Amino acid sequence: MSPNATAEREAAVARLRAAGLKVTESRLAVLDTFSPGEHLDADDVYTRVAVVLPTTSRQAVYGVLGALAEVDLLRKIEPAGSPALYETRVGDNHHHLVCTGCSTVIDVGCVVGEAACLTPSETHGFRIATAEVTFWGLCPDCSANAEPSRAGLS
Ligand SMILES: [Zn+2]
Ligand SMILES: [Zn+2]
Repeated sequence: MSPNATAEREAAVARLRAAGLKVTESRLAVLDTFSPGEHLDADDVYTRVAVVLPTTSRQAVYGVLGALAEVDLLRKIEPAGSPALYETRVGDNHHHLVCTGCSTVIDVGCVVGEAACLTPSETHGFRIATAEVTFWGLCPDCSANAEPSRAGLS
């Protein structure tokens, strides 16, 4: 194991302990599978974890995802029409750009300042804690691919 991987593993162990979770191979493997900025659905995570932990089951991975999301080590987002996605960037109330063409998901920072960074026009007496915004559109690749057909229509 490279020194970097060792340091990452130690950081993951510390995060699990700080969250009050028992440190298990499957929890470490799930945390380890995410690269910064990635948004993965449960099947993606299972496929990757199964490579390093062949004895794991889909059910076990789903259970780990639920447990990690519950203690805020993972954030779960649920864009309309897509399976729930998990990511390791937590606690900053960031938002998402979602491509309607290829389902690519990209993080965007808070619209203004910190959570909750948006004020609804009417709060109905709620004390707002977070805001969750999904911006839908076409990513640059899908826009480029859409150009010829659009040109053909005009
Ligand atoms: Zn796209
Ligand atoms: Zn995100």
